[in-house]
Amino acid sequence: MEMAVANLVVPGDNVLSVCNGFFSGRLAEMSARCGADVARLEIEEGKAADPDVVAAAIHEYRPKVLTIVQGETSNTVYNHALPAICQAAKSIGCLVIVDAVCTLSTMPLHMDEWGVDAVITGGQKGLSCIPGVSLVAFSEQAWNKITTREDTLRHWCLDAKLADKFWYQSSYHYTAPVSGIMAIHEALRLICDETLEARFDRHLKCSMALQAGIQGLGLSLSVEKADRLNSVVGIEVPEGLEQKAILAHISRDYKVEISGSFGLNIVRIGRWANSAGYTISSAQSTH
Ligand SMILES: *Cc1c(COP(=O)(O)O)cnc(C)c1O
Repeated sequence: MEMAVANLVVPGDNVLSVCNGFFSGRLAEMSARCGADVARLEIEEGKAADPDVVAAAIHEYRPKVLTIVQGETSNTVYNHALPAICQAAKSIGCLVIVDAVCTLSTMPLHMDEWGVDAVITGGQKGLSCIPGVSLVAFSEQAWNKITTREDTLRHWCLDAKLADKFWYQSSYHYTAPVSGIMAIHEALRLICDETLEARFDRHLKCSMALQAGIQGLGLSLSVEKADRLNSVVGIEVPEGLEQKAILAHISRDYKVEISGSFGLNIVRIGRWANSAGYTISSAQSTH
């Protein structure tokens, strides 16, 4: 996340951060730390960003960079209007940074077609790999901004030009986390073997089954269907019960750890694929 932000945000740039929850808020915070003048567009809790509202904000603030999450893991909201939002940003030459940590490879994200300039993901969520290794992809336009920047990046470790030399020009940047890179290579190989289409389909089917099962128990899902993320499902805690007590019970009696939900009174379940290609429901752990 920080690599995308640090390389694309020049101190003094206007940045518009579409804030749906914890992780999209983090992108705003990172942009501010990189010296941007950040406008936060706060989206109503539990709702996807409305492309007309975002377009209006783009025309008002004229940002150089827009940050947004495809899926907001913290409250399980899905920004399904991402293509229209990217189009609005492109119309004024604004670069778009998309956090796809919990969504990449679980649902479509057409980076080039939609006009996304940086896609970020981590190993531990949609890719079903390990934490500690992350991927970032830059568009041609983004790369152009990176290579023509006149200031020196404040972050030595996150400097994409140094990383580019490291990966493609046999230069030394830092000692690579070799075991993590091997792990992510294997995770990506499994995705290629399965194919994205089959994987999207499997995630969708398993999520629908999970959602139906939860509702069949008489529980409510925390986000309306139209704005609901498939890769992480949020369940309302029934009245009279405490999220903390439920999680402690699940941990003690079933040895399943589910992390808290950043203050929201919901319980979240994510899914990941094991190496045989099955999708199993598991605790969504963000810590
Ligand atoms: C988990 C998550 C992150 C952060 O990943 P960490 O490795 O815990 O820093 C960022 N964005 C989204 C959407 C996430 O789900």
